[in-house]
Amino acid sequence: RDATVDLKAAIRAIPDHPKPGIIFRDLTTLMGNPEAFRATCQALADAHQDRGVTHVAGIEARGFIFGAAVADRMQTAFVPVRKAGKLPHKTITKSYALEYGEDTLEIHEDALPEGARVLLIDDLLATGGTAAASVELIRAAGGEVAGAGFVVELVGLPGRSRLEGLGVETLALTS
Ligand code: IMP
Repeated sequence: RDATVDLKAAIRAIPDHPKPGIIFRDLTTLMGNPEAFRATCQALADAHQDRGVTHVAGIEARGFIFGAAVADRMQTAFVPVRKAGKLPHKTITKSYALEYGEDTLEIHEDALPEGARVLLIDDLLATGGTAAASVELIRAAGGEVAGAGFVVELVGLPGRSRLEGLGVETLALTS
């Protein structure tokens, strides 16, 4: 990818957000930097170019921002994976565990045609719970996961191992 753009430097670290002891990776600074935003979307698209991708699935909310740009670049369709209760048509639902409590994601049951090869996109891979739930939704809707792309990967967490064999590509590693 464009090695002249330092993606990591474009991401802001917010200490103690959303709670004490957590360092939140704030990608609004990367999105607010046109060179960094463009290089990020291009790199995510390039990393999955030869995988026969037909659909990009973006996870609400930041996965919509990057995913839609990647879909446009790859000339594929875009499919939203949304938080519970947002999609208007019939949905498939998946709940997954958070550190405290649980969260629920949904996809439209008719979002993917037979033979769809889906690239999953989100901003950040941490424990992998969000992405693993999204993979289950894509499969339940009849799609095949052709790859998974993230801007940031938090190393030292099980995210990558939970997506074993799915062709995970991440652009910036951080602890
Ligand atoms: P996981 O399910 O533990 O892998 O967490 C990943 C999900 O939480 C993604 O949808 C991210 O958008 C969000 N997330 C967790 N930590 C951060 C962060 O530091 N910055 C931005 N998003 C985060």
